[in-house]
Amino acid sequence: MSETNQRYCHVCGEQIPTSKKHRTATCLPCVRKGRVALFGTCAYVDEAFATLWARGLFNRLYLFLQARDIPTKTQYELLFKATEIFQEAEKGFGRPEQMSEEWLEEMIERRKKYLHPAFFRAFLIEEHYLFKKSREEKYVKALPSRIQELSQGYQRALEVYYQELLAMRQRHLKLNASRPLTFSSIYSQFEGLFRLVRWLTEVAPDLIGWEMVQTEHIHAFLLTLPAKSRGPTQRKLLAFFRQARKRRLLMHIPLAELPSKELPQTDEPLPMKEQKAVARLIREDNASHPFEVFLTALCFYHGLSRQQIQDIKLSDVHAEQGMIQVKGRPPIYLLQEDSHLLEQFLLRRGELPYAKQKSSLVINNQNKLADLPLDMHAITKKVRIFSGHTPRRLRMTCLAAHAALYGPQYLVDAFGISLTHAARFGKMEEFLLEEEIKQQREAFVELSRHL
Ligand SMILES: [Zn+2]
Repeated sequence: MSETNQRYCHVCGEQIPTSKKHRTATCLPCVRKGRVALFGTCAYVDEAFATLWARGLFNRLYLFLQARDIPTKTQYELLFKATEIFQEAEKGFGRPEQMSEEWLEEMIERRKKYLHPAFFRAFLIEEHYLFKKSREEKYVKALPSRIQELSQGYQRALEVYYQELLAMRQRHLKLNASRPLTFSSIYSQFEGLFRLVRWLTEVAPDLIGWEMVQTEHIHAFLLTLPAKSRGPTQRKLLAFFRQARKRRLLMHIPLAELPSKELPQTDEPLPMKEQKAVARLIREDNASHPFEVFLTALCFYHGLSRQQIQDIKLSDVHAEQGMIQVKGRPPIYLLQEDSHLLEQFLLRRGELPYAKQKSSLVINNQNKLADLPLDMHAITKKVRIFSGHTPRRLRMTCLAAHAALYGPQYLVDAFGISLTHAARFGKMEEFLLEEEIKQQREAFVELSRHL
């Protein structure tokens, strides 16, 4: 390659790769940068859009991308496609509120190759045109295709039941029910039913559908489950069978309607031997898995719930004083060992993408743009993988150990647990169950605000 053929970008001075196609004197990154800058000018925006709201929307999108250091190539492609979408919106709708979620999703679907939907959606969520779908909602939306995979004789009744539960949920929401049917409860209904159908297909392949299933089959199935989930599963199955008979999809109910004795659904505190094992794990393995260790320590030594962990902001951490403020209870004071864990954890946190823009202490490692803490499921997963136990069980172990040592009043002072709860501390499971229900309810209120 001779010197004379070599070209240099007149903007940044970088060498331009020689190719016949690119005879310009500006390199591609500089071309893109220039075009993105153009998108930010009034001249472009006024020319591209006729309405004030479309101009505003596009301007805000531009600033949204700039503020988040999105790569220039992505910005360029996204803004180009977004122009098309907002122009179409202007033609179709008089006001921006008329852009429905379905319409936007269809637009996104059609242009998903260059639109970079994750960023575009994040913007629309911030602008309240789209709403964040919960994990449960996604699972529930996937149920129909899972029903299709079952053997034919079982499908119809499940499909009808699915539609009915969704309709029931809608009714609850419309009537502002205090505890409407949640996506996670619909999902768990179907988990039990799917498990039953899989078992029936495997053990009794000669049955061709629900009408041939007998009480003995159901009882044999329930016996395959762990003792504490038999009661709840039985109730779920019963609800399904009743509904199916009402719709005349089933002539009989293959399950006795006797009340079953229920075992508590929660776990016991860990035995001493296992407590020691967890403590040893935390002590020994704190450099290689800083996130997992730190989360485990928060549950096990400080009795924090997942919700409390999520609520901690970076500004609640006072590393020099060895103190972390926690919503709804007295602050945590760190021991020397804990301080080391915190240090390791903060180092790792700092390396995560977008760490500086996020206000929560515990964040995820994905390039999500919303300022959200690590989600509940991920917290459970991390703690469980590391310690072998759920956050809840570790928390319960912590609270039980402290109550045994210092008495229930200590829980009030040190963990901010209310007196009524502490008084019937003997029934730890009840307290945690109640707390869980309260959390679910709050999560739901949050969700229904967006509906
Ligand atoms: Zn250049």
